[in-house]
Amino acid sequence: MSHGHDDGTGSGNGLRPATKVVHSGRDPKRFDGFVNTPVVRGSTVLSATYDDLIHHRGRYSYGRRGNPTTESFETALKALEGGDGIALTPSGLSACSISLLSVLGAGDHLLMVDTAYRPTRTFCDQVLKRLGVETTYYDPLVGAGIADLIRDNTRAIFLESPGSQSFEMQDVPAITAVARARGITTLIDNTWATPLFFKPHAFGVDISIQAGTKYIGGHADLNLGTISAVGPAWKKVIATHGTLGITISPDDAALGARGLRTLAVRLAQHQRSGLEMAQWLQDRPEVSRVLHPALPTDPGHAIWKRDFTGATGLFSLILKEVPERAVAAFFDALALFGMGYSWGGYESLAIPFDCRDYRTATVWDVEGPGVRLHIGLEDVADLKADLDQAFARMRAAA
Ligand SMILES: *Cc1c(COP(=O)(O)O)cnc(C)c1O
Repeated sequence: MSHGHDDGTGSGNGLRPATKVVHSGRDPKRFDGFVNTPVVRGSTVLSATYDDLIHHRGRYSYGRRGNPTTESFETALKALEGGDGIALTPSGLSACSISLLSVLGAGDHLLMVDTAYRPTRTFCDQVLKRLGVETTYYDPLVGAGIADLIRDNTRAIFLESPGSQSFEMQDVPAITAVARARGITTLIDNTWATPLFFKPHAFGVDISIQAGTKYIGGHADLNLGTISAVGPAWKKVIATHGTLGITISPDDAALGARGLRTLAVRLAQHQRSGLEMAQWLQDRPEVSRVLHPALPTDPGHAIWKRDFTGATGLFSLILKEVPERAVAAFFDALALFGMGYSWGGYESLAIPFDCRDYRTATVWDVEGPGVRLHIGLEDVADLKADLDQAFARMRAAA
């Protein structure tokens, strides 16, 4: 099969990441010159002959098992992730849950980072527990000390770096080195960095997961999950994914692919604006600390600098102690920052958070209320003005 603009395998080997996201997985010659792979809707795929049918000779066999639109998007993602294959799922959470189901069974033990996306924890505490898998939460800063937590039946270690809401950086290569030596599968939720800014497989991670809902989609109009895996883990992922009957619509695959084409330029802007806002917030009298690994003062900065090639637009701040009514006044005053979960779209967002609500392996002991910001693609001068007037309302209500 030909993939037009890349090296013919669709891998985009040798091309730089910003070029790969533009060219990989497209084959205009195959579609009468149209730049984008069309949205192909379909369940039934017809075979030309009896012989083709019984020997499965067609490129496609049945809608659930893939079509030109999903295949094109998978090829582009594979070029970026550098793994052995991509499985697409209907949400980021399902990408986490299907990956875990692929490598765990009754009697197994899972090491799960305490700073994981909260619904991933709920999946472990409810579904995995019911299926006979025991989960132990670990401190994200454990590093090579993960070795002390491994049991005879530990089959998987799940990472997320930086951590959800609080942005602790994990020493990924220290953990994967221990896991590889013990034959334990590693998984990472890489939604924050995307494979443009952190390459999980290059750091020894077997399964790389993204909520494509966030930066891959990039426009707050899609729920999507992506799983990239290598070696034996890839065989397990694709078998479990196929057996469970997980599939995404060709429309969603086309939206995901459309987002991917502009990922590099969007992330460059999210990075620039995010860092400028983080630095500005560090100097605000209302702010105690900014949690952003690209700031030189951040405790995770050395690891971020060693392993990552960029930072995206999501970070948090800890306010100085104020009563809740003042926090409410701050949020209610925001005009450009929307109050809403999710992130990764073109728009700026703000939510309050408190990690004491759910963490079990670490102590969340901070000076004041937590605020998570997503810096979108607006002009930062307008975003600063919006926060400035919201801080004024906060002070007035304190
Ligand atoms: C949003 C998110 C998810 C889940 O994605 P959905 O599409 O909402 O299911 C998983 N992990 C992280 C880190 C996220 O931010």
